[in-house]
Amino acid sequence: MEWIKGFLKGFATTLKVLFRKPVTEQYPEYKRPLPARSRAVIILTRDPDGEERCVACYLCSAVCPVSCISMQSAEREDGRRYPRWFRINFARCIYCGLCEEACPTLAIQLTPHFETSRRDVLKLVYEKEDLLVNHGGKNKEYNFYRYAGVTMVGDKGTHINEEEPVDLKSNLP
Ligand code: SF4
Ligand code: SF4
Repeated sequence: MEWIKGFLKGFATTLKVLFRKPVTEQYPEYKRPLPARSRAVIILTRDPDGEERCVACYLCSAVCPVSCISMQSAEREDGRRYPRWFRINFARCIYCGLCEEACPTLAIQLTPHFETSRRDVLKLVYEKEDLLVNHGGKNKEYNFYRYAGVTMVGDKGTHINEEEPVDLKSNLP
């Protein structure tokens, strides 16, 4: 009789879950919205003036643990630096986000877009024209160049949001 008990117990469990609402999400028909800070495909953003933020400082390239970022710096006539070319090999990228952390201009950003698998591995090598977007990404207002990219004119303490210099002698007893 033990086997009948086990048999019925199994069927009872089946019946119990048979009419429950399914929890499986049917990807790719349904794409779950991911948090804005999810780490997937990388973009190069622009500042509010529409200029590319990247100043080709090589910090992202230096910090990348798998060395998948490479670029060549160049300088415009007005002295502003930019990457002549900028390349990311997504076949090696581990989406750690360290490049984004290191970037002083918020140019390089990871996005939640993850559907990038390709049969041809060479198609995972993205050039600047594939990476550069026409918006500011997560922080649209930030304009690194206005604060730190231009040569200072005027006295100390007169630049945007710059504090007045401290007179050290005023701290003396
Ligand atoms: S996310 Fe990590 S592995 Fe990918 S490019 Fe940035 S630093 Fe390199
Ligand atoms: S993306 Fe950022 S860290 Fe990388 S070279 Fe450009 S400015 Fe420097």
